[in-house]
Amino acid sequence: EFLKSRGQHILKNPQVIQSIVDKAGVKSTDVVLEIGPGTGNLTMKLLERAKKVVAVEVDHRMVLELQRRIQGTQFASHLQIIQGDVMKQDLPYFDICVANIPYQISSPLTFKLLAHRPAFRAAVIMFQHEFAMRLVARPGDSLFCRLAVNTQLLARVSHLLKVGRNNFRPPPKVDSSVVRIEPRHPPPPVNFREWDGLVRVCFGRKNKTLGAIFRQSSTLALLEANYNLHQALAIDNPPGTSGAGPIIDGSSFADSMMEEAGPLGDGEEEEDADMVVAEEKRGRKNRFTEGFKDLVIEVLQQTGFENQRSAKMILDDFLLLLAKFNERGDKC
Ligand code: SAM
Repeated sequence: EFLKSRGQHILKNPQVIQSIVDKAGVKSTDVVLEIGPGTGNLTMKLLERAKKVVAVEVDHRMVLELQRRIQGTQFASHLQIIQGDVMKQDLPYFDICVANIPYQISSPLTFKLLAHRPAFRAAVIMFQHEFAMRLVARPGDSLFCRLAVNTQLLARVSHLLKVGRNNFRPPPKVDSSVVRIEPRHPPPPVNFREWDGLVRVCFGRKNKTLGAIFRQSSTLALLEANYNLHQALAIDNPPGTSGAGPIIDGSSFADSMMEEAGPLGDGEEEEDADMVVAEEKRGRKNRFTEGFKDLVIEVLQQTGFENQRSAKMILDDFLLLLAKFNERGDKC
């Protein structure tokens, strides 16, 4: 049980380990960040290639085992071990991250890495296969979701290799996949709160048209309340500045994606029926003004997104929609 709670499934197949290291493209000048080195199978291969490996491991028994394994070898001075929970650590500088992580922390860890500065070259990470498929899903794929759109706003992602459960000891109940994540630099100049607010609304019911979603009283009431709050807070910010900054604050992303329920991260699969009931319960609170509704619908019509579904929209569509909402809001 203890092992399970920490996701301790040791990767045993040397060919798979070698293949991960090869595909990662580790250079001899690189500082590599490894998360959850466990007994060090991957760590030893990384040390053969890199200038230095910094490994963060929460379990002191694993730390001891790794120290024993490295002692007296030529690599001893190239490995730094940080004992602790990676989610609670300030991460050191690294060029590339290579890791077989415990799957419970997949989503928050991904956004913690993407928030890290200075930006690294790439992260090559083993995820649960289903999580990996959602992370790399493209617009129009059935798995395209808030996780995909938020990750792909900040990074290019690609699937590297599928790894069957039998390559691990003890074998987990699920298959895995290794994904490559390359941060975009500079990150796109959008305000995170606004971006994530829009994406949450759009993917709340990802198979409905935006016209239908934005006509719902719950959506309109939420947007209008946020808009009024924004206006009240914006006294110091002249019109036209709201969409420009602050530039993406990755740590807010990490916080936001951390709140997600469920083992796979984002909870956008919520049943429509449940949402309708919840909405009716909230009932009377969903007040908004007709003028505000007209303004929202006008933006949707002008941009041509009224009859589109978020599952089929590309990143630039969301960026354009956000910019147009900001533009229209500033004119009020
Ligand atoms: N990298 C090794 C391998 O491939 O054989 C072990 C991978 S195992 C799936 C995950 C490792 O992460 C375990 O060693 C576990 O103790 C460690 N771990 C679990 N939660 C952690 C956390 N929050 N911070 C750092 N390490 C963690």
